[in-house]
Amino acid sequence: MAEYKTKVLIIGSGPAGYTAGIYAARAGLNPVLVSGPQIGGQLTMTTDIENFPGFAEPISGPQLMENMRTQAQNVGVRMVDDKITEVDFNTRPFVCSSENGNEFTADTVIVSTGSSARWLNLPSEKKYIGFGVSACATCDGFFYRGKNVAVVGGGNTAAEEALYLTGFAAKVYLIHRRDALRADAVMQKRVKENPKIEIVWDSVVDEVLGSEQPLGVNGVKIRNVKTDAVSELMIDGLFVAIGHHPNTEVFKNFLKLDDNGYIMTAPNGTATNIAGVFAAGDVQDAKFRQAITSAASGAMAAMEAEKFLQMQNS
Ligand SMILES: Cc1cc2nc3c(=O)[nH]c(=O)nc-3n(C[C@H](O)[C@H](O)[C@H](O)COP(=O)(O)OP(=O)(O)OC[C@H]3O[C@@H](n4cnc5c(N)ncnc54)[C@H](O)[C@@H]3O)c2cc1C
Repeated sequence: MAEYKTKVLIIGSGPAGYTAGIYAARAGLNPVLVSGPQIGGQLTMTTDIENFPGFAEPISGPQLMENMRTQAQNVGVRMVDDKITEVDFNTRPFVCSSENGNEFTADTVIVSTGSSARWLNLPSEKKYIGFGVSACATCDGFFYRGKNVAVVGGGNTAAEEALYLTGFAAKVYLIHRRDALRADAVMQKRVKENPKIEIVWDSVVDEVLGSEQPLGVNGVKIRNVKTDAVSELMIDGLFVAIGHHPNTEVFKNFLKLDDNGYIMTAPNGTATNIAGVFAAGDVQDAKFRQAITSAASGAMAAMEAEKFLQMQNS
């Protein structure tokens, strides 16, 4: 148990949190960063990253995040591997407490707790995440040129992912557990008219099939929920598009959230409804959800926190 006092407390250790840390430390603010349950954030679940600038060759997700952590530590970010369980944003300085009984008092807080993809929760799915199972077509679609893939879901995100994947894949199965899509009419029309997309109605994935060496997906076992008939689809990639869950539970009594639970921030900025509390990365961005956009908003949050502190002291 320890007490930490800081000008800037950063909650979360994904691209947004580490970047906020780097900027805040280099601004002389001596930030403390609480890593949370997933040190390095979502990218630690994936293999090759090809769309983060600065790496001419693909870099693995865990390695990229390790680099960011080391860079943050090198410029002076104090890391605490713990999880924030309670916050009080009604007092000044703000008070946050953690799973391990630590207490943090902070003049400003940057919330960068991300938004976790919802998964099917199958053991076989977990085994192949990063090896053929993905939750992000923008991130991984490129790897499936000329291959067969499947998307699970029936909402706008699933429709968008399926349409996006037709730019690469030879064939895209859209597996949906009902007999009608939930996506907007326009999206439904585009999906249904696309010759590369085949909708597999009334079906759920029971198992992801794949090889051991090299580890990789080569099919899915699906079950028709009306007939219970089981069949297999031969695919190279499975994209799970059943939504995201922003990690905002701890903040919901203080910060304004949108209908889907994302933190609402000022237009073109990271300020929340509480002066001195900023939000960066996927936790406030249901639209882009990329490492580079998260990192960018982490930088913005640190710069806004710095400005806020200057105003307080002037
Ligand atoms: C399988 C997969 C592959 C992807 N591939 C790519 C890709 O190739 N390129 C790309 O640009 N993007 C990719 N993405 C998206 C990218 O990972 C996210 O956009 C990015 O990680 C978001 O960064 P973030 O910092 O906002 O949040 P996250 O990376 O989600 O990090 C959130 C952090 O908050 C912490 N946290 C949560 N709750 C608490 C708490 N209560 N207390 C303290 N800490 C807490 C977690 O431990 C974690 O460290 C991929 C995502 C997935 C799931």
